[in-house]
Amino acid sequence: MSLFRPNIKAMTGYSPGEQLTGEVLKLNANENPYPPSPRVLAALRDAIDGNFHRYPDPVATCLREEAGKLYGVSPNMVLCGNGSDDLLTIIVRSFVGEGEKIVSPQPSYILYRTLADIQGAEFEAVEFPPDYSLPPGLADADGKVTFVANPNSPSGTMIPVHDLEELAESLNGILVVDEAYVDFADENAMRLARKFDNVVVLRTLSKSYSLAGMRVGLAVAHESLIEGMLKVKDSYNINVLSIIAGTAALSDQEYLQEIVGKIRKTRQYIADELRDMDIEVFPSQSNFVMARFGEDRVRKVYEALKAQRILIRYYDVPGVRDCLRITVGTQEQTERVVGELRTFLNSANAS
Ligand code: PMP
Repeated sequence: MSLFRPNIKAMTGYSPGEQLTGEVLKLNANENPYPPSPRVLAALRDAIDGNFHRYPDPVATCLREEAGKLYGVSPNMVLCGNGSDDLLTIIVRSFVGEGEKIVSPQPSYILYRTLADIQGAEFEAVEFPPDYSLPPGLADADGKVTFVANPNSPSGTMIPVHDLEELAESLNGILVVDEAYVDFADENAMRLARKFDNVVVLRTLSKSYSLAGMRVGLAVAHESLIEGMLKVKDSYNINVLSIIAGTAALSDQEYLQEIVGKIRKTRQYIADELRDMDIEVFPSQSNFVMARFGEDRVRKVYEALKAQRILIRYYDVPGVRDCLRITVGTQEQTERVVGELRTFLNSANAS
């Protein structure tokens, strides 16, 4: 007899990107190939000889202030998390009761459904239209919480912020705009967090700031929402070093722009190369591209790259089963992927 709650027993757990040991080019988890700002490393080196016997600041005041300055909001509108995954959990626990509904376009970030399963909440997946614009059914589904990853993963596509503004107006519940990849995009929805009292904008330092290992996420929302969510979070949800690293990273916008510029340039390169191989590429505003190889060869392409110790992401979910998601690496790494793909596709065509 299982002692687990029925919903936990029934669910499949979230599985993060596959890990291979040894030398591998890891392009399956949308990590940044470049190091974080030198300021981060300097601040961490200074901190490492310090005192760790005290708990961290429970609300990470210096990080809140730095984020407030950057986003043009009061620090009271910012909540810091142990990665944005922690903030997603806090949001679900704050706003969604057992049996209540969470809504999200599909295909999207798989964790949204996992969190609904853990909570014992209902999950309604509203399919994206073929052009990955805002699904018209999203407002009608009327969830307690609606999650929209923008840019979306795994598609890399972006819904115009103006459309999200209309959605926020029409929803009775909370709209979460998960902007994990937005630093690689042309626009962002931060103004919606300032305008509405039912919008939470999420950011992470895992992607554009190269701090996936540090686990730093930020939620920006109306003060009343942040105040309520503070009651739900773990008391000390980010550790001392992550607070220091996160604050230093946000303070170096010049470095961020330099790195983002490189990744956007390489993103254009890989998209052009794939299209030149007659592969359909979704228009990407992220640090990855989704490419349609077709059902007959998608697994073979994945395996061929894996055999060369290059790891990319396959999604066994409706709508993208014939596609692969490739994280944009350095220019050199990406040229290697393109070379391997050309070799594989040429040999497949020849046989
Ligand atoms: N949202 C989206 C859409 C993501 O793809 C990810 C990364 N897997 C996250 C949130 C979580 O990022 P983190 O917890 O590293 O901040």
